[in-house]
Amino acid sequence: MYECRNAKHFFGLILLDILVFSICSAFFFIGKNLFNSSADVNSEKSVFLPVIMYHSVFSGTPEEYIVTPVQFENDLSWLAENGYTSVTAQQLTDYVDNKGNLPKKSVMITFDDGCYNNLSDVLPLLEKYDMHAIVSVVGQYTDVIAENDPHIPAYSYLTWDDINRLICSGRVEIGNHTYNMHSFKGDRKGCSKNTNENEEEYNSILTADLSRLQSEIYEHTNTLPVVFAYPFGFISDESLPVIRELGFTITLTCSERPNYITRNPECLYGINRYNRSGFYSTEEFMNKIFKE
Ligand SMILES: [Zn+2]
Repeated sequence: MYECRNAKHFFGLILLDILVFSICSAFFFIGKNLFNSSADVNSEKSVFLPVIMYHSVFSGTPEEYIVTPVQFENDLSWLAENGYTSVTAQQLTDYVDNKGNLPKKSVMITFDDGCYNNLSDVLPLLEKYDMHAIVSVVGQYTDVIAENDPHIPAYSYLTWDDINRLICSGRVEIGNHTYNMHSFKGDRKGCSKNTNENEEEYNSILTADLSRLQSEIYEHTNTLPVVFAYPFGFISDESLPVIRELGFTITLTCSERPNYITRNPECLYGINRYNRSGFYSTEEFMNKIFKE
């Protein structure tokens, strides 16, 4: 009995040891993996990126989509003094493709519509403050309107020559803002899908429009945009497959929220932007967009 009891006790202790060892191993395994995953998150921490959306910059009365050159210069001066670097589309795609890093204090500067004053008033200030920007043009504005009525800072659009001057400056990348869908036509808002058309019809209309502008930009400038800006921020679920298919790697919306850029290329589809209304002071606007 004694021996038997001892043997039971002995085997009981072994079982207890195995149990304790198993539990410890399990906790060690879980803990190790928890530790590893938090280390991964830390080493690949997302980069906070506010994106500013400008339109027209000229010496008129400030409006929702118009800032004066003085306001624009104040903005750039504030960014420079506070240590911010304006990142390019190329830097963003390099980052998500693991080919480069982003500055800790990053901002992105964008202009929609392709106003002529982006050359006459904006470019000299980008050069003065060592900043970069993306200018997303509307094909028809450049092809038709700008060619017929060029170079009035208050209302003209960029001609193809102007766009080439922007590209040659090394300060500006060109984005696609549709060839002729920057409008409200019937049921269609911007380049969103009409409720009365099927997906196939919509795909072919959107593909024809965007690829026409891509071809024209390539023909006139020998560059091919990777950035697409949704007119007025109207987005359909059906748009993105077409946009991807045409080779765009970044899409710009009008949702006023910050972005958190990771190493995942998907995070560049649907970049949020803050409209820089002329009704704000520089300090008011910057305090709004740099609030994490
Ligand atoms: Zn626009």
